Amino acid sequence: MTKQGNLTVHTENIFPIIKKFLYSDHEIFLRELISNAVDATQKLKTFASASDFDGALGDLTIKVEIDSKKNTLTIKDYGIGMTEAEVDQYINQIAFSSAEEFVQKYADKKDAAAIIGHFGLGFYSAFMVAEKVELQTKSYRKDSEPVHWTCIGTTSFEMEKGSRKKRGTDIILHINEDSKEFLETSRIETLLKKYCRFMPVEIEFEGKKINNTEPIWLKKPVTLKDEDYIAFYKELYPYSEDPLFWIHLNVDYPFNLTGILYFPKQQNYLEVQKSKVQLYSNQVFVTDEVKEIMPEFLTLLHGIIDSPDIPLNVSRSYLQSDSNVKKISSYIVKKVADKLADIFKENREEFEKKWDEIGFFIKYGMLTDEKFAEKAREFALVKNIENKYFTFAEYGEKVKPLQTDKNGTQVWLYTIDAGQQHGYVGAVKKKSYDVLVFNNPIDSHFIQHIEGKEEKLAIKRVDADTPDMLIEKEDKIESVLTKDEETVLQQVYENVAGKDKYTVKLESLSPEDAPVLITQSEWMRRMKEMSRLSGGANMDMFPGGYDLILNTNHKLAKKIADTKESEESTRMAGYLFDLARLSQNLLSGQDLTDFVNRSMERLDS
Ligand code: ADP
Repeated sequence: MTKQGNLTVHTENIFPIIKKFLYSDHEIFLRELISNAVDATQKLKTFASASDFDGALGDLTIKVEIDSKKNTLTIKDYGIGMTEAEVDQYINQIAFSSAEEFVQKYADKKDAAAIIGHFGLGFYSAFMVAEKVELQTKSYRKDSEPVHWTCIGTTSFEMEKGSRKKRGTDIILHINEDSKEFLETSRIETLLKKYCRFMPVEIEFEGKKINNTEPIWLKKPVTLKDEDYIAFYKELYPYSEDPLFWIHLNVDYPFNLTGILYFPKQQNYLEVQKSKVQLYSNQVFVTDEVKEIMPEFLTLLHGIIDSPDIPLNVSRSYLQSDSNVKKISSYIVKKVADKLADIFKENREEFEKKWDEIGFFIKYGMLTDEKFAEKAREFALVKNIENKYFTFAEYGEKVKPLQTDKNGTQVWLYTIDAGQQHGYVGAVKKKSYDVLVFNNPIDSHFIQHIEGKEEKLAIKRVDADTPDMLIEKEDKIESVLTKDEETVLQQVYENVAGKDKYTVKLESLSPEDAPVLITQSEWMRRMKEMSRLSGGANMDMFPGGYDLILNTNHKLAKKIADTKESEESTRMAGYLFDLARLSQNLLSGQDLTDFVNRSMERLDS
């Protein structure tokens, strides 16, 4: 006997809304229906182990089938099934109990995945893609009658005796005209791989097994070897290089969370591939947009987080203020920092070897996350041009004796490239100063960060000033030139270099130091670099910013001063100016060609 009836619903609008507003996320119907099938199967297993069910479990594989003649997509499970009363209760009534609220709240929103889960409309998401949905179900309970339920996307349904012989449920979707894509094998396979890849019950499509039911993040770390972690990484990201290392997450209090986070090889902004962390809820893929759950720097990691405690069915903005999410976020930060600290302590050599590759990540984390920065100060490293690594504290100790200026400020010196800044590096090395290497685009911010944490620390690039002035000491060398001679010298160079571009300064350096030196103040250069990095005003447009330092104690200074303002002094100063520009990489294009030509003429004169 066929039973007819109306779905218990206060609002007739539910189907149009499901169809219209959830458009962008149509594909999630598959995740919802298969999750239901998985739940029904898991429940049966639970009953069996609690001996509430004494039948044979048999094969529990969930099967997905396409019938292209009938235009149907079927999901078959061998779970608990439903009796007629249960269909009535769970399908006919429950789903729509909050329909009114749903319509009011979300009629104009498009966050489909959120809405569906939140209102327990999972089953009804089938109507996004189907014009008719059939259920053939038989409960696991003894002597239960099979039930056949049909609904064509209106609020009326039909229920009659069904044909299912074995316990479980078939959901048969008669795919609508606009959703024909869901009858394509490749489309369904892609979706199954996306959403169901790690679901806990076997799923089969076209005779092929889709999922890995026991992903390694659920296993105990002690049972796993490095190879297992690397193999899983390759399973997730087939064409990637091996990760540097990983963290196996496993918490059950005060929230549930498992997962594995991998540190990929990446050295700077350009190589960064964000959003490679996938979020799962009980092995069901939810999203790879984890921005709301983790601090931004952690999105540089790869891997999987699985937590039923992240509320998936509410809006994004709500997520950020959710207290569970906050706890999870700070837990992950702490775990990552602890892991790095462990590796540093237990195997410093290994850590140093990988520093060039993880350094970017750590620096980025320190710049953007205060908590992480605090912990990372124990293991963040600086490297000098001899390729030796130091923690901040170690380096401070090392350079303190020689590199403290007359005001008690410690000065750390660095180069972006010891080859390119060879002359400058050589000059400070002559004073037995140590030189660090900072060559990552993130370093100008990072340097600022280190300085900001110390009371009396200045970090200067080797070409920021003369070797004497970089670290100013009490004892100053006297100038050998008279005031008049110094005025001449200044005049000659101002004419040669152009007062608008260079600020000419006289310094009494050692006679062995270079006669002419171009420097750019640390402050000015950082301003320029940072505005370039942040895409702000192009500070290169500002002329100047460079100082032309004349060493009054060099013998050529005296020679030029003696020659007074003349062709000869201009020629000499011009040549020295060219050489200074050359060592500061300031000669290129036309300037460089002119320099080459002038040099050849000089040989001739
Ligand atoms: P939710 O899964 O959030 O409860 P759904 O609309 O997806 O909401 O499903 C409603 C109810 O219908 C489920 O809670 C379950 O009791 C029942 N149900 C749905 N699919 C199945 C299935 N394949 N086997 C057994 N029961 C099911």
